[in-house]
Amino acid sequence: MRPPLLEVKNLSRYFGRVKALDGISFSLEEGQTLAIVGESGCGKTTAIRLLLALDRPTVGHVEMHGRDIAGFKGKDLRKFRSDVQAVFQDPWSSLNPRIRVRDLIAEPLRMNSDVTKAEAYKAVDKVLRDVGLLEAHAQSFAHEFSGGQRQRIAIASALISKPKVIVLDEPVSALDGSVRAQIMNLLKDLQLEYGISFVLVAHDLGTAKYMADHVAVMYLGRVVEYGVAQQVFAAPQHPYTLALMSAALPAHPRLQKKEIILRGEVASPIDVPPGCHFHPRCQSFFGDICATQPPELLEVLQGHLAACHLCHGAT
Ligand code: SF4
Repeated sequence: MRPPLLEVKNLSRYFGRVKALDGISFSLEEGQTLAIVGESGCGKTTAIRLLLALDRPTVGHVEMHGRDIAGFKGKDLRKFRSDVQAVFQDPWSSLNPRIRVRDLIAEPLRMNSDVTKAEAYKAVDKVLRDVGLLEAHAQSFAHEFSGGQRQRIAIASALISKPKVIVLDEPVSALDGSVRAQIMNLLKDLQLEYGISFVLVAHDLGTAKYMADHVAVMYLGRVVEYGVAQQVFAAPQHPYTLALMSAALPAHPRLQKKEIILRGEVASPIDVPPGCHFHPRCQSFFGDICATQPPELLEVLQGHLAACHLCHGAT
């Protein structure tokens, strides 16, 4: 059997005593979307840097079709940089305002392949059309566009090298209601057309629910719940996921129509609570086992994993 497109195995990144990422694992198949959700400080940014090979893990691996990306150099690394692209949250800060849109979009293609300028510009015209802009827009500067249009330009720039994976870092958080929906729909259409896989990093559960096939909920550097998105959103198991969902999404039976208020703040990664990292904030905390023993990420329903003693049947 062919190894998955992207596989993350026990991925950890430590900065001295700080465990920014602490043993996360998941895989991503072709044409699928995995959403990574959690509050700030949960390790999302560190995970993105490792996925884009902008940093190296302390422990663990990122593999593409079974090959560890840490070993990529020269041509392999160039190919990887072309195959894995990113779209970031604020198109205003990630787009250079002094460069014409044409050159901005062509840049990743010209950096990572040997195409001529003319070939690159031809490809620019195509991706501009694909993201719902006009060829004439190629001559303009990024600051001449609205927020939604700038995000379309950022998507075009990620798309031009026909990547296998696009890491979407809060791609619609800076946008308002209807524009947000348009960009999410555009991403879904492009996914079908180009057969791309997405790693969607979001704090917004609505976006994750709409876009994702699988979801990984992170807390303080660890995955606390993982599964098929539909199942996780319909029947969240981990108390942290329940609290996040009760605050962000319409109530469902397990939430008893009442918002669960998360106590306190996310702990500092320098001083993580012992046992279950979430225990000082957990509304279901039930004693010593929570405070002293770290729960493993285990299957609680078919293909649905949670790291919680309560979900594992401890009492
Ligand atoms: Fe809450 Fe205990 Fe489960 Fe942690 S292990 S989430 S403290 S019930």
